[in-house]
Amino acid sequence: MIELVMSGPHKRNTEAMHQSLRCGARTRNGTACRAPAVTGKQRCRMHGGARGSGAPKCNKNALKHGGHTRAAREDRKARRASIAAGRKVLKDLGYE
Ligand SMILES: [Zn+2]
Repeated sequence: MIELVMSGPHKRNTEAMHQSLRCGARTRNGTACRAPAVTGKQRCRMHGGARGSGAPKCNKNALKHGGHTRAAREDRKARRASIAAGRKVLKDLGYE
């Protein structure tokens, strides 16, 4: 009878595997996925890292209200800068 011994004297080097980038996709229980990410990607093969997966460039499938588009963010940033500049002028004039 042949006895299979899975734990022999050979020391397995799994360090590179453990050092690999991990998938950060949120799972159904709220934690990160932690599966190894596909090379050159941030996600694992099951969460959008696979070749051919994901939406085509510039698609609007997930666009709900446009509040987080680049244009909207830049607009808010410019408005905040304008308000800050106005506040500084008021402060320098002694109105605030
Ligand atoms: Zn994943």
